[in-house]
Amino acid sequence: MAGGEPAQAKLAAVVRTIAVSMVAEVCSIYLLRATGEMELFATEGLDPGAVHVTQLKPGEGLVGEIMRLGGPLNLSDAPRHPSFSYRPETGEDPFHAFMGVPLLRGGRVVGVLVVQNRTSRIYAEDDVEDLQIIAMVLAEMVAGGNLLSREELKDVEIAPRRPERLKGAKFAEGLAFGVAVLHETPVAVGGLLADDSNAEEARLATAISDLQTQIDAMLDGHEGILGASYDVLETYKMLAHSRSWNHALQDAVHSGLTAEAAVERVRSEHRAGIGQARDPYLRERLHDLEDLNDRLLRHLSGDGATARVLPENAILIARSLGPADLLEYDRTKLRGLLLEEGSSASHAAIVARALDIPCVGRLAGLRDRVSEGDPVIVDAEGGEAYLRPRPDVIKAITTRMGLRAARQAGFARLRDTPAFTSDGAKITLFMNAGLAVDMDILPETGAEGIGLFRTEFQFMVSEDLPRLSAQTALYAKVLDAAGERPVTFRTLDLGGDKVLPYLEAEREDNPALGWRALRMGLDRPALLRMQLRALVAATNGRVLRVMFPLVANVDEFRAARALVDREIAWAIRRGRPAPSRLEVGAMIEAPSLVWHLDALLPIADFVSVGTNDLMQYMFAADRGNPRVSDRYDVLSPPALRALSTIRDACLDSGTPVSVCGEIAGRPLEAFALLALGFDRLSMPPTGIGPVKQMVLSCDREAAWRGVEPLLKSTSGSVRADVEALARKLMVNV
Ligand code: PEP
Ligand code: MG
Repeated sequence: MAGGEPAQAKLAAVVRTIAVSMVAEVCSIYLLRATGEMELFATEGLDPGAVHVTQLKPGEGLVGEIMRLGGPLNLSDAPRHPSFSYRPETGEDPFHAFMGVPLLRGGRVVGVLVVQNRTSRIYAEDDVEDLQIIAMVLAEMVAGGNLLSREELKDVEIAPRRPERLKGAKFAEGLAFGVAVLHETPVAVGGLLADDSNAEEARLATAISDLQTQIDAMLDGHEGILGASYDVLETYKMLAHSRSWNHALQDAVHSGLTAEAAVERVRSEHRAGIGQARDPYLRERLHDLEDLNDRLLRHLSGDGATARVLPENAILIARSLGPADLLEYDRTKLRGLLLEEGSSASHAAIVARALDIPCVGRLAGLRDRVSEGDPVIVDAEGGEAYLRPRPDVIKAITTRMGLRAARQAGFARLRDTPAFTSDGAKITLFMNAGLAVDMDILPETGAEGIGLFRTEFQFMVSEDLPRLSAQTALYAKVLDAAGERPVTFRTLDLGGDKVLPYLEAEREDNPALGWRALRMGLDRPALLRMQLRALVAATNGRVLRVMFPLVANVDEFRAARALVDREIAWAIRRGRPAPSRLEVGAMIEAPSLVWHLDALLPIADFVSVGTNDLMQYMFAADRGNPRVSDRYDVLSPPALRALSTIRDACLDSGTPVSVCGEIAGRPLEAFALLALGFDRLSMPPTGIGPVKQMVLSCDREAAWRGVEPLLKSTSGSVRADVEALARKLMVNV
């Protein structure tokens, strides 16, 4: 394509060339306008007067049908097809044979390419293949601005261009403005066509076979550890070995595409074809297929070992991210993360929080609406994403970012100020952590230690089961980094929504009420004992504080405690140092324990209230389900009474108690906790500054006097009353 040629002439030359090479009398290109109509942009063989005149609404005519199908249409006698729509201006009366294919980008149909012939005939399969390849290259050329000028593409939906606002769920707090970087990069135009099809076929075959071996190994590798049933991986395996998927890929390569382009094309076709499906089963299969495509692309690129170079202020866009994906990006450039799916408990969200990268997830249709380089805003305060935002929105967000930064600077100044209430009570603020990277920020936060170290994170971000040596190394690193500050390790809290790809657990109807956390540890003690062994080894003669998640019954706690003793005895027998002091605690997360504190507290060295779980069980509302998780308020009489009961019982028995659920990091909720008498709070690092600010301004006696009557309130929520109280007492919440 000569650079200087006017755009329309270029496009006319393209259709002429395609018509000649396909031995067709007609070749036409339709592109999608922002109005949703497919417009004839160029034609060879139809009346040139119809260009930019003929427009077809969604679903109208054969072009609309192709758009709906997201796949090719091959007809011997087009006018007889029920969807045929006659347009006199085109002069298409004499043409019977019709073959049309969609121009696909990122699973969206952005145009249609059609060839027609006078004589009735069905085009050969090879012709359809050829036209699909041409369409793929054409879509990339148009999108890349190689064929039409910016002006001509102004309201063409080759890539979405209007400002859009998508509502999602907040996964990691914060705000960011930057440019979109697609985690799943489209293959560049230059990399679409293969010079040597045989070599490409061989590459593809090797990559597919490597992928199949990998998946088979995933299935075979870990039997026995959890007694898993492997449903999900089985489906994966079936798909990876599926003939239709393999054939579709092979056919695409056979027709001249590179292996990467073949994967892209098959992926695009699937997304266009079943992406709209309502059937959850089909949609689930599409996800599995997408994962397979991603894996296959990684095999083709030699395991994707080369790190992506990020632009400044990169906002990563992905469907969901695998265990270690986020850690592979340059942290200094990555400002935010937008996910189409995921949950706040997903790996990516956990890592994003650990790295303090604002993240919004569950943004339906995200990837189809954003192109590489688009300006985007991550509003993880409101749980929204703005794509190609208008200048006023950008201005508003930058103002908010400025305010947020100023607030953070204020918190940083409080770092070394001890947290005393205005009436002189010492409050100890701890940080929740789960990854080695968390430890880097411990000194910056001013936290007095780690009140909850979620050991399962290491398991969740690794590709396979961390060995004893890896576990020991992590725990030792954490203890070294903490120095004099105490660290409370919580043993593995897996199961429920925290599933590991390599330890696929049996699907349960009620995972939150199922085989998880300590239950799993006691039933399969090998895993728990390995972890306790690692903890004892890492402690290496220092203090060991360990607690167990989701204890629902005191006997479980006794059994777990006995395992710790056993591991220490094992270490001593081998001449290794025992911990200088051992403290074993229970998390109070199951409501049952609240009614058996008299039995628990005498045998526990400390307890920690996991309000995230305790509240989900008390209110029978799945914490991971956005439809129900916000239906109740922790600032309500039942929740506050339960917490008050726990606090009082601990006070009576002299058992140290902390709160380590998310509410400990929210100033208003933490204010209520202080009022109830809690003086040890463990929270995400970002909560420490705001909570300390609250503590410094709080008169605890006055707070209790204000909160006590609220415990007897008959309202479902006392949030407004707690807010009013904080205002009255001039507490900084
Ligand atoms: C909790 O349940 O409150 C808790 C701290 O544990 P997690 O959030 O890891 O379940
Ligand atoms: Mg919990």
